[in-house]
Amino acid sequence: MRTQVAIIGAGPAGLFLSHLLHLQGIESTVIEIRSRADIEATIRAGVLEQGTMDLLTETGVGERMRAEGALHHGFELAFGGRRHRIDLQGLTGKSITVYPQHEVIKDLVAARLAAGGDLRFEVSNVAVDRIDSSNPIVRFDHQGASHQIEADFVVGCDGFHGVSRPAIPASLREDYQRIYPFGWFGILVESAPSSDELIYAQHDRGFALISTRTPTVQRLYFQCDPTDHVDNWSDDRIWNELHTRVENTDGWRLNEGKIFQKGIIGMRSFVSAPMRCGRLFLAGDAAHIVPPTGAKGMNLAISDVNILSKALGQFYRQGSEQGLDTYSDEALKRVWRAEYFSWYMTSMLHTFADATPFERQMQRAQLDNVVNSRALATALAENYVGAF
Ligand SMILES: Cc1cc2nc3c(=O)[nH]c(=O)nc-3n(C[C@H](O)[C@H](O)[C@H](O)COP(=O)(O)OP(=O)(O)OC[C@H]3O[C@@H](n4cnc5c(N)ncnc54)[C@H](O)[C@@H]3O)c2cc1C
Repeated sequence: MRTQVAIIGAGPAGLFLSHLLHLQGIESTVIEIRSRADIEATIRAGVLEQGTMDLLTETGVGERMRAEGALHHGFELAFGGRRHRIDLQGLTGKSITVYPQHEVIKDLVAARLAAGGDLRFEVSNVAVDRIDSSNPIVRFDHQGASHQIEADFVVGCDGFHGVSRPAIPASLREDYQRIYPFGWFGILVESAPSSDELIYAQHDRGFALISTRTPTVQRLYFQCDPTDHVDNWSDDRIWNELHTRVENTDGWRLNEGKIFQKGIIGMRSFVSAPMRCGRLFLAGDAAHIVPPTGAKGMNLAISDVNILSKALGQFYRQGSEQGLDTYSDEALKRVWRAEYFSWYMTSMLHTFADATPFERQMQRAQLDNVVNSRALATALAENYVGAF
């Protein structure tokens, strides 16, 4: 089979790229190893920057997000028993929307299928070849048969563990990485939100995040040992830990409810550069990972493919490769800023087991500075809403 752009992976990056290409009259085929039901049910990101919200709306896939997402004009930093509001709207004129990633996925899959898009779920044995030629190929198995797509370009949107990045010879890329000595224990809880806005809490026992997914589901996280196991954590132990970490003196209380999902994720910062080799381009988590503290992962995936779709449009309309040649540099500029912000938030809010008493005091002083300085709070808010 033949298409103009072969896309590996139906996450936010792959699906939105396919949608953006379709709007420009460019054909694509998306292949995905998981089932449609699985990708539409996997709970991950939830914070959409203003720019991401605007892009989804402008390109006709933001209707449900606008109707069902929760617009947040600020968030809170909690430490030392007190909560301090970061007024995103007041400091930057912009906001964020809390709308779960799997709902974005559902909207994008529905839009692609309604437009007759070629999406293939539950493929296996995916391999990329001939990336240094003008007709790269992607091989895969689907429904008991082997297939091959010939394309003008291949875009690897297959996340951190996909096959695309390893298809670029190690000698032609530089990988930058930091693995953090902690993870996040995440739970989904049936209950009304504890707070109208997200709460990022720093405590000597470790970080905690109070967030919501829908008016009846809370998403709560707390810092944990990345090698720990969910079976070690009874519901009572989880609630005790969360209450301790978000304890405060202003009477605010965390709502409890039925915990219906538990999981542990590791934390890493990672960038592979450049995000292109010949006719193979990388986008989203395939090229970079941020710790989730800055809420940037999905937003970066959307921003990468926005840049790439314009470059591909320029190629097909004008025959110009200029945008394709600058894609990696342009995308990486934003990626590195988001890497910095995610590292900064992670370092400021988590407890490092090997920190000296002096370093712990510095961490607390840093938080005090942020909530007492309009300039520092503005810088944090600008990064959080993606106002750059
Ligand atoms: C717990 C958690 C919380 C997060 N919170 C936030 C947040 O608040 N805000 C935010 O912006 N980001 C957040 N993120 C990050 C965000 O979820 C990711 O950055 C985002 O999913 C990246 O999108 P992607 O399309 O690049 O990759 P993915 O979403 O990983 O999609 C890749 C797809 O490729 C498929 N695939 C893999 N290998 C192959 C193959 N060989 N062939 C075909 N298909 C393949 C996978 O099945 C997957 O569907 C969070 C992540 C986690 C884990």
